[in-house]
Amino acid sequence: MAKITRPHMARVKKGWDRSLWASKKPFGIGEQHPNNFAEITRAIRENKDEAGFAWRILSQGVCDGCALGVAGLHDWTMDGPHLCNIRLRLLRLNTMPALNPSVLADVSELRSRTSTELRELGRLPYPMIRHKGDPGFRRIGWDEALDQIATRIRASTPDRIGFYLTSRGTPNETYYVAQKAVRALGTNSVDNAARICHSPSSVALKQTIGVGATTCSYGDWIGTDLLVFIGANPANNQPVTTKYMYYAKKAGTKIITINTYREPGMERYWVPSVAESALFGTKITDESFLINTGGDVAFLNGALKHIFENDLLDHDFIAQHTTGLDEARANVEVQTWAELEAHSGVPEVEMRRFGQMLGSANTAVLVWSMGITQHSFGEDGVRAIVNLGLTRGFVGRDRCGLMPIRGHSGVQGGAEMGAYTTAFPGGVPVNEANAAQLSSLWGFPVPSAPGLTTPDMLDAAHARNLDLLFSAGGNFLEAMPNPSFVDEALSRTPLRVHQDIVVSSQMLVDPGETVILLPAATRYEMPGGITQTSTERRIMFSPEIEGRRIGEARPEWEVYLDLARRVKPELADRLTFTGTQAIREEIARVVPMYDGIQHLRKTGDQVQYGGDHLCADWNFDTKDGRAHFSEVRLPEIGVPEGMFAVSTRRGKQFNSMVHEKKDAITGAGRDAIMMNPADAKTLGLHDGDQIVLRNEMGEYHGRVFFAPVKPRNLQVHWPEGNVILDHARRSPESHVPDYNALVRIEQDAASRAAD
Ligand code: SF4
Repeated sequence: MAKITRPHMARVKKGWDRSLWASKKPFGIGEQHPNNFAEITRAIRENKDEAGFAWRILSQGVCDGCALGVAGLHDWTMDGPHLCNIRLRLLRLNTMPALNPSVLADVSELRSRTSTELRELGRLPYPMIRHKGDPGFRRIGWDEALDQIATRIRASTPDRIGFYLTSRGTPNETYYVAQKAVRALGTNSVDNAARICHSPSSVALKQTIGVGATTCSYGDWIGTDLLVFIGANPANNQPVTTKYMYYAKKAGTKIITINTYREPGMERYWVPSVAESALFGTKITDESFLINTGGDVAFLNGALKHIFENDLLDHDFIAQHTTGLDEARANVEVQTWAELEAHSGVPEVEMRRFGQMLGSANTAVLVWSMGITQHSFGEDGVRAIVNLGLTRGFVGRDRCGLMPIRGHSGVQGGAEMGAYTTAFPGGVPVNEANAAQLSSLWGFPVPSAPGLTTPDMLDAAHARNLDLLFSAGGNFLEAMPNPSFVDEALSRTPLRVHQDIVVSSQMLVDPGETVILLPAATRYEMPGGITQTSTERRIMFSPEIEGRRIGEARPEWEVYLDLARRVKPELADRLTFTGTQAIREEIARVVPMYDGIQHLRKTGDQVQYGGDHLCADWNFDTKDGRAHFSEVRLPEIGVPEGMFAVSTRRGKQFNSMVHEKKDAITGAGRDAIMMNPADAKTLGLHDGDQIVLRNEMGEYHGRVFFAPVKPRNLQVHWPEGNVILDHARRSPESHVPDYNALVRIEQDAASRAAD
């Protein structure tokens, strides 16, 4: 039994509890679930040429996988090892050798390869260039590459250049330096992967409770009365959370899921680092509410209506620390149960049941993810969650919290370091006063108008209004809706720069005029070490790790400064850092909440900004010091007769990187179209039938895969499903793309011919 290390966590019951077992068959033999021991064997085989390096990365580094956060093999929530298959699958990216640059001399054959096959070519070792009409890339030197980019920037105007950073292992130091360098170039058009995942969470949380991040710690999961997951599948995306869930259940926590799909990994899981669970599995979810795609707002408003109708509120908390209750109440009063049922797809009695559970709980942690945010009304989904959290003060105290759980390692720090079109470092809004303050700190003029968000950059590129797109990692072709639109946008951009560790398919899109590839060092190769911030706001130090080094790959932060100095030599003295320690020292000065980062030196060193809880003791960092209820209207999400709502953001992958052809948790292949068997029966379809999903954006070919999804709703894998998504659909405030669509189902012509 792991020892609980955090004082605010509840006591965990000792001994094994058969009532929690998922199966009496040892190791779940015959059940569909990941084989974590096979994953370890695979990782050993893949990394055998650099076994020592691989081990040092695992035992000393901060994981470059998801944003749960672990240094070496230990975290700050539970004792015992912390390791998962995502980390093991990513390991090879850090240990593999360089590719032979001659493989890029002609890209025509490479364009038919999958991204997995492109990654397997090896690490990018040298800067390379390809002009329009060239069959492929040739090697150039760093000076030539950066001079060409600098020349283009000088010939352009700040409104016609855009910079994007992925969350692929990208550390705080890189984000901070990148945004400073880009702002020195005169634009705020520097965005990062947070834009396309949790930007609605940051916006809505700031508006309602005054902070833009998770308010609690993972330890608050252990022993809270209710742990609620809304549009989230952490068993897939942050696998070690299942260990926290195991201990939460042992401490008496009830786990609730609200989703369109009864995710098998959230129903039961075999946690490899816990003997009881590794042997017999653990039943995770106690109550599951199956709702329509986009039906969250209605479902959550229904629960809120029940809480109001039955006066289940914490009146003292509300009177002393909140505002807007009456308006929120009036808003849901006029939403009829019939409307709420039609939108959510859930009977009134179910919404009331969830409302009653929340209204009778003393503590609750509400966790959400892309199922809430990636809608054209993503901010409203978050505001509906916050409303429920405020009914009983489920924030700022032990075993309570509002948690937008983050998917990728760098993404929490990306926006907090200011690599964000709409925010300066510290999440400070882009405006005149804040720009003036930064200008005096940095010694050069900082622009005060928001720049282009990631979707805006692609729109501008498509309209031929962008001269330079500089993308550090990422793959717009796979991450953004409507790949043919993205392909056109990329190929219309005169100069594209792709800074990355491996080859991606977007690099191979034909040049508008020129494409330059820049080889990046991984986080483990950076002299001076780096830091990363986890979902629970923990800033963790990861040292430089001895091992294989790749050609001329450089730390990305150095490249941004080198480039900015070439464009603005007069600012050279203000665009220089002696190393990552100097960057951390400046971060501590510019971003007060990150104070302490400058003292981190070795594996295990960390500081959790804000402490265990933001909004502690119900101090809200809003203008009036109060938390704000919101009036959340029902979105327009009707599904016309004969059509289905399809959600695309699911996978067995990391970022847009597909890791496996078959999902070990669901058993689904990549072409699976998850469908309720009742719908299939109505349509005369069988498991495995080939079908086409069609709408005005395109068509998606796949196979019927029977799954417990809500009827009239479908799910497909991402990025494959991007072909049916409308690139123009995005949320109004944060511009997150909508990763959902309406489709008609047709039988595949190939399968018809075979009948
Ligand atoms: S759960 Fe996340 S942080 Fe932990 S090992 Fe897996 S990928 Fe890394």
